Amino acid sequence: MTRILLKNPEAIVSCDREDRVFRNHHLIVENEIIVSITDSIDQDALFDEVIDCSGKVIYPGLINTHHHFFQTFVRNRLSIDYPSMTVIEWLDKIYRVFANFDEEMIYYSSLTAMSDLVKHGCTTAFDHQYCHTKPNGIKMLDQQVKAATEIGIRYVGGRGGNTLPREKGSTIPAPMLETTEEFIADCERLIKTYHDNRPFSMTQIVVAPCQPLNCYSDTFVESVELARKYGVRMHTHLGEGENPLMVERYGMRSLDWCEERGFVGKDVWFAHCWELTPEEFVKLGKYGSGVSHCPAPAVLGGFPILDMRQIRDTGAIISLGCDGSATNDSSNLLDTLRMTYLMQAWHSKVRGGCVTPYDVLLMATRGGAKTLGRPEIGSLESGKAADLFALDLNRLEYVGGLHDIANIIPRMGITEQVDFTMINGKLVFYNGELQLVNEYELKKEADKCQQRINELVD
Ligand SMILES: [Zn+2]
Repeated sequence: MTRILLKNPEAIVSCDREDRVFRNHHLIVENEIIVSITDSIDQDALFDEVIDCSGKVIYPGLINTHHHFFQTFVRNRLSIDYPSMTVIEWLDKIYRVFANFDEEMIYYSSLTAMSDLVKHGCTTAFDHQYCHTKPNGIKMLDQQVKAATEIGIRYVGGRGGNTLPREKGSTIPAPMLETTEEFIADCERLIKTYHDNRPFSMTQIVVAPCQPLNCYSDTFVESVELARKYGVRMHTHLGEGENPLMVERYGMRSLDWCEERGFVGKDVWFAHCWELTPEEFVKLGKYGSGVSHCPAPAVLGGFPILDMRQIRDTGAIISLGCDGSATNDSSNLLDTLRMTYLMQAWHSKVRGGCVTPYDVLLMATRGGAKTLGRPEIGSLESGKAADLFALDLNRLEYVGGLHDIANIIPRMGITEQVDFTMINGKLVFYNGELQLVNEYELKKEADKCQQRINELVD
């Protein structure tokens, strides 16, 4: 057994049910579990490791509930001008690039995104991996499992996929198309190979057809059947501009379409939901489904800014995602917290108030845990996973803000690299360095791999 003492932090923001902030306490970890937050400790010698946390604040690890790691290799490109394109135009353009991705590109782009996440306090990441290209192999998600295991992040892999061809109205190029049968078979293979449903599991699988507009109906129907058979969760994009086309095609809006196929419930969460009406959020609340709010693509694409207080009142579960780098360009979840708060504040006068910065932190911690069905993460309590990060607030630029530690990240816009990140009881980022991989070597290889993509983009 390994015992680690996180000694003398300035504060521990627990994000527990009582929203406690501990001062003059220490945090004790045994293997992967927090065993105590206590004001009295045994002698240092009784611990295998003592981490001096003087001047630091410890937070629960952040949970990212929507991303596309592979897009990290097409970021920062003027030719992919998301702000001046419709989602459909943008998809049409980027999918032609994605259609050339191979397993090596998925592996290195995933490592790059995960590195950014871990360095900014994220400890659990869901990735919606819908880039599967027939000529280059469909074992893409397997590459992510490998990358996540190497870097040490808690990983939830969403097996995405598209089944509707372009001639039937989708934006999907032929090399990325699968039949429903192929999609479901690969989901089942991944669940059987990697899904670990035990508490503290480091790898889980989610059935995640890409979005209603680009799939046949039976893809969603069979996804529900498969996911419920194995007790895994479901996820898709919803309300990101597809509703007029769904009405034209099926005579109903996309949430109703999902409902008719059983793709709603406590085990389902949806990304974006920009187009949803207040009544549709009530419906999500009734089912206990989740909404992954990704502020960066909403702002960049000029979409409506969701009213978090209204959604929260319906009982729907809110969590946060940075989304893929073809829209966001970074995988910094601290930046997502800041953006979420600013966007909510923008409407506060007309909406009669704003969520607090601490509410935003809760979305990225407890909200994320509930969304993924993981009661063992999302807060710092005895018996929960040792997933946490520390900020060193012993800096001149923080003076004046330290009296209210629970609100500080979204409100002051703290978006730099954290002091350290611990996942499942292991330090994965410390002293400015990833601990489990050789970052310099990986960076060289990732650069080389990314160069091959440059040749594909105009
Ligand atoms: Zn997305």
